[in-house]
Amino acid sequence: MAYRLTPKLMFPIGNFKNISSGFGEMNVYDNRLWGKHLGIDISAPFETKVFASGRGVVVYSKLHPGEFDDEEGKVLKRNWGGIVIIAHKDPKNKKVFYSLYGHLGKRYVKRGDAVEMGQFIGTIGKALSESNGVWEEEHLHFSIYAGPYHGKVLPGYYKQEENSRTEPEYWKEPISFIKNYSPGAKLD
Ligand SMILES: [Zn+2]
Repeated sequence: MAYRLTPKLMFPIGNFKNISSGFGEMNVYDNRLWGKHLGIDISAPFETKVFASGRGVVVYSKLHPGEFDDEEGKVLKRNWGGIVIIAHKDPKNKKVFYSLYGHLGKRYVKRGDAVEMGQFIGTIGKALSESNGVWEEEHLHFSIYAGPYHGKVLPGYYKQEENSRTEPEYWKEPISFIKNYSPGAKLD
């Protein structure tokens, strides 16, 4: 795949003051310990527009297939709604990294699409529906990942006992990553 250089980054959704769960928090949801949060959650109502954080190429755009957990003999399926992953390349150090947008209702890009910073890529999904998953609160899950990508949905949480799924050091705190990448990037 041909990468595209990403000169600047911006925040993908209107207001970053509405963070309901920060990066690195140990989240318990639905009576389950999910582990360390690998992104940030930004509260936003149903159908809020979501924009590409930077120029790049879409490498994933699908409804999350869902994760199956066996808890106390009950198999539970949880999904994150629609997910978009965009590949970026830093022109300064030539490193490839990815931005991930989860809990999308509508998605307006497909795998292979070239996107520009600020391009309208989708909307926030409805709570407790297939487009948002089991989550009661409508929000965007946003992550920056700087590790190798294998074509699958990237995890949203890190648990030591499941560490074959990801390496925590590949995950960057998105707000400071964007600010350091694009000095002067607006917060809202
Ligand atoms: Zn999240």
